[in-house]
Amino acid sequence: MKPYDAVLWRICIHEAGHSVVGNVLGTGAHSPEIFFDGQFFHGRVRRYTEGQNRAVSLSGEIAELMLIDFPAEHYGIDDAEQSAANVRKMFPNGRYSKRQGLTEYVGVVMDRLIDGLNGMSDADRSGSDNFSIRDVKKAVRLIMKHEAEIRFEADYARKKFLSEPTVRRALKRLESGGKA
Ligand SMILES: [Zn+2]
Repeated sequence: MKPYDAVLWRICIHEAGHSVVGNVLGTGAHSPEIFFDGQFFHGRVRRYTEGQNRAVSLSGEIAELMLIDFPAEHYGIDDAEQSAANVRKMFPNGRYSKRQGLTEYVGVVMDRLIDGLNGMSDADRSGSDNFSIRDVKKAVRLIMKHEAEIRFEADYARKKFLSEPTVRRALKRLESGGKA
């Protein structure tokens, strides 16, 4: 494991989230492109159609949560189902009696997005302006359904990036502690 692997993978997953969800929702997103400026990694996904699509704009952040952060925290849809079942038991006749695992899970994603709003890129923040729980739910469902594709796209973007000679040289300099 290289020291930058985790950072690079996170960016690849983020961009692949935008790309795959964008394609599913018909915005015609390109494959992710990753750049290195000698110090930081950057990623982007170009889209054919301009225009606001909140679910696509949220899908980078949500893919990071669902495919990297939650697994590391051992949180999954099974846990969400378990908490939803506990809530149902506590309120058997109330409005919570229909609470489902997915609802619970989407609520956790929503909270984390709101907590992390300041760390979001300008493009993601403006593209998802005024997002609602419905936008989050749409993105969560699509990421669940297309998880394998997102991982595949991310892996492809990483390999393509790492195969470029200029990138390899810059990363070598970084590893040897020299100025990039
Ligand atoms: Zn993004």
